Amino acid sequence: MKNTIKALILFSYISCLSTSFAGFLEQDFSKISLKTTHVRGNIYMLEGVGGFSGGNIGVSAGKDGILLIDDQLSPMSEKINHALAEINPGKLRFILNTHWHGDHTGSNAELSKQATIISHSNVRKRLMAEQNNFFGKSPASAEAAWPLITFDQAMNIHFNGDDIQFIHYPNGHTDGDGVIYFPNSKVAHLGDHFFNGVFPFVDLDTGGNALSLSRNIKKIIERLPNDILVIPGHGELTDMKGLMAYDDMLSNTISFVQQQATAGKSLADIQLAGLPSQWAAWGGGFVTEKLWIKAIYQSLAK
Ligand SMILES: [Zn+2]
Repeated sequence: MKNTIKALILFSYISCLSTSFAGFLEQDFSKISLKTTHVRGNIYMLEGVGGFSGGNIGVSAGKDGILLIDDQLSPMSEKINHALAEINPGKLRFILNTHWHGDHTGSNAELSKQATIISHSNVRKRLMAEQNNFFGKSPASAEAAWPLITFDQAMNIHFNGDDIQFIHYPNGHTDGDGVIYFPNSKVAHLGDHFFNGVFPFVDLDTGGNALSLSRNIKKIIERLPNDILVIPGHGELTDMKGLMAYDDMLSNTISFVQQQATAGKSLADIQLAGLPSQWAAWGGGFVTEKLWIKAIYQSLAK
């Protein structure tokens, strides 16, 4: 059953992310709802149930209003507004984009009528122009979807009694990834640097790299307290233990492929032999073991 759901998600993910968005129209969005989870303090997580709605959303809701992290695919904007109203009647004021992908920025254009969008500068650049990656061509986004405030390394947002840190980690999932940390609530949203429990998708065509993604995850772990709660870009809410298991998988599978490549094995050879069996379960997401080996192999050359 779980595999059927994963296969369905994989199918929808691939058809949706080709942000020509032709694929997502085939999805019946009336069947998709948003599940709200109280994470800790004034932080909540919204995730799609019943279909692929996009990446996980983080919410800070309190006396200053609402701050959102990512906003899923465009047909979700009304459902996002509805879910936010149920959490807190405050005004939506800021949206932080963890990266440019359409399953994290799809509702930007609609929600920018209410809020100011903030991101790393490369997110704005990529939304302003057509992009071409594994999923095909993504047309330039409407101007209303472009972040108004951008940063290059890090920024702080003083909101709802917290000093929120929005930190860029270079060339991980893309070239514009930002990780958000709420020190008061001890909650972090890692965007697509973190696919919980599955091999990650690395967008090599728009500046991602498996090796630096793994290095970034180690830096993120060093920065975060042990009792952190972690919202991944995709997958279930987790904690430091879940993040460390992911870190362990990244380090071990990368060094395995690295050793094979150094020994002169071709990509096809490594894919055929596969990874040590202890990592097989991580191939249950949309990135299969073969795709993950390919991402590592191609990252080695960059
Ligand atoms: Zn992504």
